[in-house]
Amino acid sequence: MIKEGWEAVIGMEIHAQLATSTKIFCGCAVQTGGEPNSNTCPVCLGLPGALPVLNKRAVDLGARAALALGLQIQETSVFARKNYFYPDLPKGYQISQYDKPFSANGKLTIMTAERDPSGRSTEWKPMTIHIERMHLEEDAGKNVHEGLPDVDKFSYVDLNRAGTPLGEIVTAPDFRTSWQAYDYVNHVRRVLQWVGASDADMEKGNLRCEANVSVRKIGENAFNNKVELKNLNSVRFMQKAIEFEIDRQITAHEAGEGVRQETRLWDEKGNRTRVMRSKEDAHDYRYFPEPDLQPLTVSTAFIDQVKSEMPELPDAMRDRMISDYSLSFADASQLVSDKDLAEFYETTAKESDDPRVSANFILSELTRELNNSGKSVAESPVPASNLAELIKILGTGSINNNQAKEVLVEMFASGNGAAQVIKEKGFEQISDSSAIEKLVDEIIETNQNQVTAYRGGNEKLFGFFVGQVMKASQGKANPKIVNDVLNKKLKS
Ligand SMILES: [Zn+2]
Repeated sequence: MIKEGWEAVIGMEIHAQLATSTKIFCGCAVQTGGEPNSNTCPVCLGLPGALPVLNKRAVDLGARAALALGLQIQETSVFARKNYFYPDLPKGYQISQYDKPFSANGKLTIMTAERDPSGRSTEWKPMTIHIERMHLEEDAGKNVHEGLPDVDKFSYVDLNRAGTPLGEIVTAPDFRTSWQAYDYVNHVRRVLQWVGASDADMEKGNLRCEANVSVRKIGENAFNNKVELKNLNSVRFMQKAIEFEIDRQITAHEAGEGVRQETRLWDEKGNRTRVMRSKEDAHDYRYFPEPDLQPLTVSTAFIDQVKSEMPELPDAMRDRMISDYSLSFADASQLVSDKDLAEFYETTAKESDDPRVSANFILSELTRELNNSGKSVAESPVPASNLAELIKILGTGSINNNQAKEVLVEMFASGNGAAQVIKEKGFEQISDSSAIEKLVDEIIETNQNQVTAYRGGNEKLFGFFVGQVMKASQGKANPKIVNDVLNKKLKS
């Protein structure tokens, strides 16, 4: 909660590594964990005279990312040199884009909710975010530090990452709470994975985010000094860091101390942010157009082609599930939280022809089993077609809901199909109507008083007869057939 009378102003920058197999301006492999400096060549080592050649796959994936985020791909964009000195940047500049980015003017609608102190979400609401741009650029290498501070400390430069393609996604300062920023980053992560543009895994560093945070009194239009939060290893840490920063800045303003423009880190152990470096006013990167690369032009035909190859986006899929399958917003949202889960659901719903029951089983029983065993949907020992088979059997009434749940647990443990597990468990119901008729005849014969009362108008007794037949069958008679036969026999 933000202190009354104040508001936070938050802008987000995300660097997403585009999932190419080779680097953006040379043919070196993009690989993690290789021998240091093994995936390098004269281009990504920045040797004099080496010339960059743009990787078309990076443009394809950049286009997918841009379209998935509601950005407009620009007909012409220009690569530019961003000049600065750092050991992991061998050329002394980074090839990026400046005043003519690859894509711009994005409008993205996300779903967002505040969380109560126990972490539960309150009401989900749509929010439209303005994404100013997503430009293409190359990543720098890595400086690796070894040894304890001040004791035999070594620093190494590993250029395997130098030249990896990135999309840098920059929003307007639209966010007012840490949870909005949290929901935004999760939305971006999911759609980038969904369309195959990026693995977007924060732990592996192929999605990195920075938050620019300032606070002001409600009603003010001017911005106060902002703090840049960096090196955030997870979306949750980012949310905590923003929350901490909002409080810290409000306190500082109220004490008349003001807030310094600086870069801060999240200190996980101390549960606070701390200064990384003070930030002088805008760096002078002396951007100028990259003379070794042509401006990048993309045709409408190219954009149409990329669009045609893209899968249905999660929000569109969610809305379709709500209208086609009559699912609730919450259930449909959960099903599209993961592409594999959404596909698993669609297959189960289609094959079982019961979308409602499919959603229930997947979101409760199957999800629980997956969580307990630490498996992903893709690793589920119960494939969608087997779950559909179980749901179909349940639909015939030959097993009841509780039995179906038990069967699913066993299918999950053994990997066997529904019919086999039902047989093994002895859950096979008596659906043979002649056998049931025999039971019904016996019950009618031994309960003549009740039969007379029922026929005399005491219709409540019907339940009594159902109970007797079920008991006589040891719970195995198909209740639907029992009902039909009893109706027929008692009324004749
Ligand atoms: Zn290279």
